Amino acid sequence: MFALLAHVNCRPTKTGVSFTWEGTWEYDPVSGTGSVKLRKDGLLSGKIRIKDGDDSNFITERTEEPDEPIILTHVIYKIIMPFTPIHIGPGILVKAVLPSSFSLMVFGWTQVVMDIQPLIVMITGKGHVHGFTHTYVGAILITFFSALTGKYLSEIGLKILGMAKEKPITIAWWVALLSAFIGSFSHVLLDSIMHTDVEPFYPFTLINNSHGFVSIGALHKFCIYSGLAGAIIYYVARCRTNKT
Ligand SMILES: [Zn+2]
Repeated sequence: MFALLAHVNCRPTKTGVSFTWEGTWEYDPVSGTGSVKLRKDGLLSGKIRIKDGDDSNFITERTEEPDEPIILTHVIYKIIMPFTPIHIGPGILVKAVLPSSFSLMVFGWTQVVMDIQPLIVMITGKGHVHGFTHTYVGAILITFFSALTGKYLSEIGLKILGMAKEKPITIAWWVALLSAFIGSFSHVLLDSIMHTDVEPFYPFTLINNSHGFVSIGALHKFCIYSGLAGAIIYYVARCRTNKT
């Protein structure tokens, strides 16, 4: 699913409305223009143009008022869901290879922390979507923040999930730091390949050489398959230790 979230500015014309719009397509900033007319059958027909991109015609379908109100958290969930979890795949692989030196929970928490800034920008429509948090310098700060908060949150999470039944699990500081470090740096690397507006080497240069290094489809496959490979390695290793 693709989501376009945009703020629209309308101007009435003789036959309908013309508009400019500015927003985000997935996480990439986009803008454009468009126009709509009211047809005799009550439907709206129009054209939407993407700046430096395609334009397409559309006819709106009349919709009924939804049974339930559309709550902002549902919208946020729909936007966040397809993107943040993609980063988890490589984390599962690292967990399988370094089971006792890596915390998947701290890693996962880091992914959430990384994407708070883009989410706020998408909702408010103000600021740079992949701003300072998606730079390698920003990733250093996020490493410390996510390790500090993630260590305690993960220990509580493990308790709630019943994974620390016999005795509470404490995550060593170096494990929390390593997991948050791998989490934030891999996030910047993956996003700099995926999104046009990431400036990973800010403030040293605004050039992003990594963009388009591989196609988005190939990148998604890499993340999904590395997660699957990690899950298989983890499962096989567990079966072996249970046997011995
Ligand atoms: Zn991101």
